[in-house]
Amino acid sequence: MGDMIRVEGVVKDYDARTRALDGVSLTIREGEWTAIMGPSGSGKTTLLNIMSCLDSPTEGRVVLAGTIVTGLAEKELTRFRCQNIGLIFQMYHLVPYLTALENVMLAQYYSGTVDEAQARRVLDEVGLGHRTGHVPAHLSGGEQQRVCIARALINAPRIIMADEPTGNLDAANGRRVLELIRKLKEDGHTVVMVTHSQNVAALADRVIELVDGKVVSDAASPGRTGAPAAAGAVSIS
Ligand code: ADP
Repeated sequence: MGDMIRVEGVVKDYDARTRALDGVSLTIREGEWTAIMGPSGSGKTTLLNIMSCLDSPTEGRVVLAGTIVTGLAEKELTRFRCQNIGLIFQMYHLVPYLTALENVMLAQYYSGTVDEAQARRVLDEVGLGHRTGHVPAHLSGGEQQRVCIARALINAPRIIMADEPTGNLDAANGRRVLELIRKLKEDGHTVVMVTHSQNVAALADRVIELVDGKVVSDAASPGRTGAPAAAGAVSIS
């Protein structure tokens, strides 16, 4: 398996006094599940946004699946992201007046192919086959999060980026989302997630810790060094 994500000497300055990332370099291999941890303000979301092509670095570059994405024009970047990256971000709200099915189909539309049967299949996979006609306001938080996951998976992206995927969820829905992410990893997707939870990070293969915009540790997850952790058996807080 080759390198899927390469971050090379990335610096991110938001303004003259805010250096959010201070020379981050890391390589993530295809099929790896990586957790990014660190205190609030350490640069986790900034790093995820830069790896997701949502933001660009001030210095350094990002290479995804062999493509140097830093410096690509906006249109090419959007196309690359749609085809290669699934985003499970809380800020990515669902469109309130569209049903679950239509929200998923909208993601298909943006990437060029609309296929209702496939959209239904993906909603089925996340356990929402019976909720396809509901608008977000008529779905629970956990169900909305699963629609977001379905939307992220619709184009079978090679890379999945998740920002606090269990953040606003109760324990049962959190476990369900983690179980879905574990299946994605098993299917060969490369998964990067930001989490504040040691228990969630223990499910990953590897944990990278940031402090003040720098990588301070990068090691096999504690969950990988002992008995394999099962998403269903873990507390998510
Ligand atoms: P984390 O996700 O670890 O909490 P962030 O990546 O959100 O950290 O933030 C890293 C630093 O960059 C913080 O000091 C934060 O205040 C700052 N920051 C984040 N986003 C912006 C922004 N859009 N404009 C200015 N400063 C920002």
